[in-house]
Amino acid sequence: FPVENIRNFSIVAHVDHGKSTLADRLLELTGTIDKTENNKQVLDKLQVERERGITVKAQTASLFYNCEGKQYLLNLIDTPGIQAQTVANFFLAFEAQLSVIPVINKIDLKNADPERVENQIEKVFDIPSDECIKISAKLGTNVESVLQAVIERIPPPKVHRKNPLRALVFDSTFDQYRGVIANVALFDGVVSKGDKIVSAHTQKTYEVNEVGVLNPNEQPTHKLYAGQVGYLIAGMKNVIEAQIGDTLYLHKQPVEPLPGFKSAKPMVFAGMYPVDQSEYNNLKSAIEKLTLNDSSVTVHRDSSLALGAGWRLGFLGLLHMEVFNQRLEQEYNASVILTTPTVPYKAVLSSSKLIKEYREKEITIINPAQFPDKSKVTEYLEPVVLGTIITPDEYTGKIMMLCEARRAVQKNMIFIDQNRVMLKYLFPLNEIVVDFYDSLKSLSSGYASFDYEDAGYQTAELVKMDILLNGNTVEELVTVVHKDKAHSIGKAICERLKDSLPRQLFEIAIQAAIGSKIIARETVKAYRKNVLAKCYGGDITRKMKLLKRQAEGKKKLRKIGNVEVPKDAFIKVLKTR
Ligand code: GDP
Ligand code: MG
Repeated sequence: FPVENIRNFSIVAHVDHGKSTLADRLLELTGTIDKTENNKQVLDKLQVERERGITVKAQTASLFYNCEGKQYLLNLIDTPGIQAQTVANFFLAFEAQLSVIPVINKIDLKNADPERVENQIEKVFDIPSDECIKISAKLGTNVESVLQAVIERIPPPKVHRKNPLRALVFDSTFDQYRGVIANVALFDGVVSKGDKIVSAHTQKTYEVNEVGVLNPNEQPTHKLYAGQVGYLIAGMKNVIEAQIGDTLYLHKQPVEPLPGFKSAKPMVFAGMYPVDQSEYNNLKSAIEKLTLNDSSVTVHRDSSLALGAGWRLGFLGLLHMEVFNQRLEQEYNASVILTTPTVPYKAVLSSSKLIKEYREKEITIINPAQFPDKSKVTEYLEPVVLGTIITPDEYTGKIMMLCEARRAVQKNMIFIDQNRVMLKYLFPLNEIVVDFYDSLKSLSSGYASFDYEDAGYQTAELVKMDILLNGNTVEELVTVVHKDKAHSIGKAICERLKDSLPRQLFEIAIQAAIGSKIIARETVKAYRKNVLAKCYGGDITRKMKLLKRQAEGKKKLRKIGNVEVPKDAFIKVLKTR
């Protein structure tokens, strides 16, 4: 395939704006998949993606398209919708001097107003409004012009086929039977079956067993040439061997490795432990495989007295954490305990003893258990982000109240047309990770959009809050909170725990505490639960079944002191604040 006829592109937009649906239409238009009624988010292959209707993993597809007698190869990457960072992504693309094609979707909706959106795009991004393409991905309206624009406005990749091979590993998956399948983009050279290749990262040599293109399923080919995107299988057995961002080159033809990727910065951390310590090794290998698949998750070993050996994982956000957990359960049958998510706080140490221990004055706290006491620090710092909200004017008042309740400071407010406002706020990160997006959507009937970017750290008065059940600390729920929020958050957690704890043979006191000071309390009354009471008549098999079911139920319980806590009680408590 001549390089002049190759184009690489991806679709970037907020969750739900129709990226996967547009990808479906592009696959159909180019004959990559058959046109049927039920092509719905074809590239979303994972169970969790189908259930939640979001793209978790970016999928690649190579499309062949005929235009004015020439055949083009278009490599499409459908992007995941986990981060609300479209505006920030636009500026990244702009700085990298990539071509940007503005596409306005959902013009079939009754209240769609594409002209107004064009004007907003011109105002916010400085893109002339006549460059916008107005489509309905759902109905297929005008989708062909997107393909035309990809050919006309995006330049062919700058690659050199005569140079020795340089292939970038941009994704990889693990197949039980075939080992690691690396998705590669070729910048230079050619690779064929039988070639000996070397990983720049590990310096290990492999023989290529198979190369091919993603169509969107794997389709073996004889060779892959520079400018192409495809997959490669080379007998890598261990998931650690195919790191995303690695460069592959030919044995005896070493090259300068490609710059790779700037790794995504985790924003939310949580502890993860096996429900049963005998499951530790299984869970370890499941986490390794999933992180190979999703390199934005960071993993550190951790342990706790109550929960045993486990890990502290870093995620891009709460949805990312939930999806990761769900994938562990669905794809690896793992059952885990998750602790309260926390953001990376910092503490400036005053005690010279501690400074010696940590070898530095400023430490990052990703585990509330390691939160240093106030007597040992000069100040605490919390991460902040610059958030951009675009909303119809009628919701501005309510949104400003929401932002203030989240300790946000307004930085800017402009009208981007007659009735749309763009608000900029500096938010403490921990105030938006949990449920800010949902609250914003619900109070603006879904119309407000939200975007944020990293903005460093600010001083904050932080305290560590414990949740106690009959006087015993619940390790999963230890959390760091802002002093002013401790009471309301503590109260809310106690109330939610009360609702999700089943009554037991004795009374349960649920308390929130800062040090030895109790700041909130709820009580669950005693209740006698007799499973066998239902089985009158002495039907022994029925009795056995009930006892067995209760024993299975116990596996999903955690004992804290004498109190039994169902696993899903924690999840319910963690989900909102
Ligand atoms: P993504 O999160 O950006 O990948 O969005 P999806 O492609 O999953 O689409 C989100 C929702 O919007 C789905 O319910 C789609 O059916 C719907 N949708 C996508 N494109 C259109 C469109 O052009 N018109 C209408 N009315 N709905 C659309
Ligand atoms: Mg999608």
